[in-house]
Amino acid sequence: MMNGLYIHIPFCLKKCGYCDFVSYENRLSEGEQYVKALLSEMEQYKGTEVDTVYIGGGTPTALPPHLLIRILLGVKENFYILPGAEITVEANPGTCDGHYFQELKQAGVNRISLGVQSFVDEELKMLGRIHSAEEAKQAVKNAKAAGIENVSLDLMFSIPLQSKESFLYSIKEAIGLQPTHISSYSLIVCEGTPIEQAVSQGKLILPDEDEDRDFYALLVETLERAGYQRYEISNFAKTGKEARHNTKYWTRNPYIGLGAAAHSFWESRRFENPPCLSEYYAVCRGEKERVSEAITEKDAMAEFMFLGLRMTKQGISKQEFLQCFGVSIEEIYGEQLEKLCRLGLLECLGDAIRLTNRGIDVSNGVFCEFV
Ligand code: SF4
Repeated sequence: MMNGLYIHIPFCLKKCGYCDFVSYENRLSEGEQYVKALLSEMEQYKGTEVDTVYIGGGTPTALPPHLLIRILLGVKENFYILPGAEITVEANPGTCDGHYFQELKQAGVNRISLGVQSFVDEELKMLGRIHSAEEAKQAVKNAKAAGIENVSLDLMFSIPLQSKESFLYSIKEAIGLQPTHISSYSLIVCEGTPIEQAVSQGKLILPDEDEDRDFYALLVETLERAGYQRYEISNFAKTGKEARHNTKYWTRNPYIGLGAAAHSFWESRRFENPPCLSEYYAVCRGEKERVSEAITEKDAMAEFMFLGLRMTKQGISKQEFLQCFGVSIEEIYGEQLEKLCRLGLLECLGDAIRLTNRGIDVSNGVFCEFV
């Protein structure tokens, strides 16, 4: 199993109307201090081998390029990056021009994940995004012109104002830009966000559950027809372009998370940094402990099931379960597997167990069976 490295950049130029991620607006002046903290945190892992690096946020590209480059140099100094490693930076189309991508390319970045969400300006505005559809298209072109061919786009569905036609338009616009990878999630309306308030006041209307599933079906059908294979519930890729870093989360490979609110799965423990910046700085100075939790075997088995089943194409392997835990999957989960197969929510294909299409539609319910 190879290690992954995640680095969280908790800054955004402006908070989107639906966002409850750990990201702060108007705090970019702290960028320098934050990067110093990240560099000191990296030293704790000196010499560790990694084969994926993912800088996410927030908006990593809200930082000026020289700070992001300093982080990447720090990664090279402190970690052993294996040849052929996947090095991804999340970018917001409203924060980076062609020059920015060129600098990233020179610093070794070989994959960009662009938060596009929609190619309809009206929808982008309603979501509170800071960029237009045209800027998103230009960002893809700029990344490719800089020599970063491996580009992933994020698209959102089940958003107020969206129709099947407008979602289909966004999917087709995305396909037209020929990204290697597309991630697509339905909008989760989180409490306390401006969109949640507008929905509760009746100013915005959300699609219902059936409409949500219709959006998803449209997504799967359109992307598969265009040669993007669904390999995870919300992720689609051209052959060989599956996100190697994110796959580590679903297959329980170890990863180190650096930065405020970052989670790690390391040496059989899960731990997380505090989301509050001043508390995070205190952790880096050794004045505060991270929240840490040892994983029991029971937890590990449950994780194996509900994370692994997200991988819709490969599913989970009975043999691998046996190798990991020294006991057969049937012995632990025989009853649940029998019931879910009988209901047509899971299917067994030789060694593999996978969600069926019906199972994907009610995947959270399926996962609950193993917790
Ligand atoms: S860009 Fe992403 S992290 Fe930043 S506010 Fe918008 S959704 Fe949140």
